Amino acid sequence: MTSTHPGKPALAVLGKRNLELGPFAIDEAPQDANPWVHWRMRTDGEGTIWLLFDKKDSSANTLSAEVLAELDAILEKLEQNPPLGVVIRSAKPAGFIAGADISQFRGVSDVAQIETLIARGHAVLDRLDRLPAVTVAVIHGYCLGGGLELALACDYRIAVDDATFGFPEILLGLHPGLGGTVRLPRLINPTQAMTMMLTGRSERARRARSIGLVNAVTQERHVRAAVRAAVSGEMKKTKQGFVGSILNMGPARRLLASRMTSEAAKRAPRSHYPAPYALIDLWVEYGGDPPAMQRAEISSFAKLLVGDTAQNLVRVFFLRDNLKSLTGGKWDGKRIHVIGAGTMGGDIAAWCAWHGFLVTLGDTSAKAIGGAIKRAAELYGKIGRDDRRRVRDALDRLIPDLKGDGAAAADLIIEAVPENLELKRKIFAGIEPKMKPAAILASNTSSIPLEELREGLPRPERLVGIHFFNPVSRMQLVEIVSHDRVAPEVLADARAFLGRIDRLPAPVKSAPGFLVNRALTPYLLEALLMLDSGMAKEAIDKAAVDFGMPMGPIELADEVGLDICLHVAETLRGSLHRDMPDAPQWLKDKVAKGELGKKTGKGLYDWKDGHAVKSHEDVTPSPDTADRLILPMVDACMTCLREGVVADEQVLDGAMIFATGFAPFRGGPMHYARTRGFADVRDTLKRLAGQYGPRFQPDPGWDASP
Ligand code: NAD
Repeated sequence: MTSTHPGKPALAVLGKRNLELGPFAIDEAPQDANPWVHWRMRTDGEGTIWLLFDKKDSSANTLSAEVLAELDAILEKLEQNPPLGVVIRSAKPAGFIAGADISQFRGVSDVAQIETLIARGHAVLDRLDRLPAVTVAVIHGYCLGGGLELALACDYRIAVDDATFGFPEILLGLHPGLGGTVRLPRLINPTQAMTMMLTGRSERARRARSIGLVNAVTQERHVRAAVRAAVSGEMKKTKQGFVGSILNMGPARRLLASRMTSEAAKRAPRSHYPAPYALIDLWVEYGGDPPAMQRAEISSFAKLLVGDTAQNLVRVFFLRDNLKSLTGGKWDGKRIHVIGAGTMGGDIAAWCAWHGFLVTLGDTSAKAIGGAIKRAAELYGKIGRDDRRRVRDALDRLIPDLKGDGAAAADLIIEAVPENLELKRKIFAGIEPKMKPAAILASNTSSIPLEELREGLPRPERLVGIHFFNPVSRMQLVEIVSHDRVAPEVLADARAFLGRIDRLPAPVKSAPGFLVNRALTPYLLEALLMLDSGMAKEAIDKAAVDFGMPMGPIELADEVGLDICLHVAETLRGSLHRDMPDAPQWLKDKVAKGELGKKTGKGLYDWKDGHAVKSHEDVTPSPDTADRLILPMVDACMTCLREGVVADEQVLDGAMIFATGFAPFRGGPMHYARTRGFADVRDTLKRLAGQYGPRFQPDPGWDASP
């Protein structure tokens, strides 16, 4: 019943579109007095009522208690004098309904109150289901969560060919809560229904048709004819097949459920993510008894919603919104010049070209540029599988530029040459006189202070750090690094640029390691020290994964590259006024030997087919392991807050989740510390300092903070 808002502003994708709005399309038709805030109603000449959902003051339709109450009143009116047909359609160009209004879920704690509220929503959809008229949902764009549940309560679903359908609730630690768990497994094959709900994956219109989720797929100009066919009964109703109904029976359900449970367990334990298990339990227990399942869905949903996991994931939803809102400025740059076509520069260029920029890519090595373009083509092949024209256009926009001619026309120049101050300064000195006056000069440096980079620049106010993480196409977060002389509009433009390439900005001050690397380094170094003391690498990784990290620190170090880890650790060690252990000698030897991790096939683990080869021996980390890893990271976060490297806990938690995958169900490192209690974090660090050394000395911020 909920949605994680669709990633793309659909208008940008669709351009201007004309929706077939039935009787609403005729402007000269007399305006009915409209007693509703979010809905509008008109009858066409054929006895069909068109019900337009147009949520007030919102670019997307979402379901709220108020919206459903209005719908209820409308249905009550229709019951009194039922029309032949009722069409439900969204007036928003971007899509049908994005799900529930998630702000309603924030901070709720009273199970009984939620149950009452949800039961009211159920009653509205049941009323729609029972309406003695042919009900038709006409769906364009996204149809998610509660939106899909509303559509499922209609007799027909007609998809316009850009429609997508999904139940993203699971990503918020929930399962559908407006009857979706009951209606979907009875409409389509229950295995497919459960997979949709368990994974949160969306289905496009044609696939939705083939699995029986929608009755027809059509184009906007044929919508009216399709509606007519549905209302007249000409259009076939979808019916669950024989196999589907067998799979809904008790023994089959139990068998399938045990398989689903073991699949879910591979992804996350019940203690961290209870929702998938609750959903499977619901289906096993009540799959044969829809009314009982409906009641059970309500109470299961309410229980999940008040739980820590869902509340923290709802928090993460808003953390993302908060970061996204920082991209709100207006920057209308069109051309980007990237200097350095290596790992980072090449991928940054590819990503920008994919998002519509004209990108020139410079390097001293033609081979590097060639390699980058080849990688771009591979990436586009993956992310643009269904859109060959977009792939072609993006490749056209990515222009090799050995001589660096593109710099003079660029609105943004991004430097990504090797991490060497002199080299970067030399490049800046060469490029600066050619730059357009309003162009932005950005560096992707991960460790050089911007104050040092800007020296000698005649216009230091145009320089900003735009620190992408590797791999660019997968890491949503980008640090926007400021320094004391940067112009505020340059920072705002840099953030707006990130909005245009669908990345999330985290504003940070120029300080050693900025935020993310500074917090990650003590975590990785501690893992290496544990390894040094003879602890099994699998046990170290397991402690972190059990805590909720997407992968353990040893595997992460191999993923990032041991050379890069070593470099960051050494730079930080030299620049922080803090006790940081030296990286072990054997690590330096490994790097010298070229055993760099995943990219060379050998690092701390051996790597095969892109996976770390792990021993299957049962490993149990010692009780302190998780604290030894996680608390130094959390402590570094506190230092960054205290020193003003990052403005507030919201940005910090969002940044750490979207850059490092910090256990999302814990709501971010600072939220974790708050939940655990600052005093407990501080005291545990003190105890660890006594036991393992002064590197664990807690930051003074724990005492000072409320
Ligand atoms: P890289 O070695 O893969 O690529 C650097 C490229 O710059 C090479 O292709 C090289 O030929 C080119 N180059 C060297 N001198 C040049 C010059 N004078 N003019 C034009 N091109 C020149 O390096 P990378 O890993 O992509 O790192 C680039 C920057 O990004 C560094 O500042 C690094 O700290 C930062 N960074 C790297 C990572 C990472 O994981 N690799 C992550 C974040 C930030």
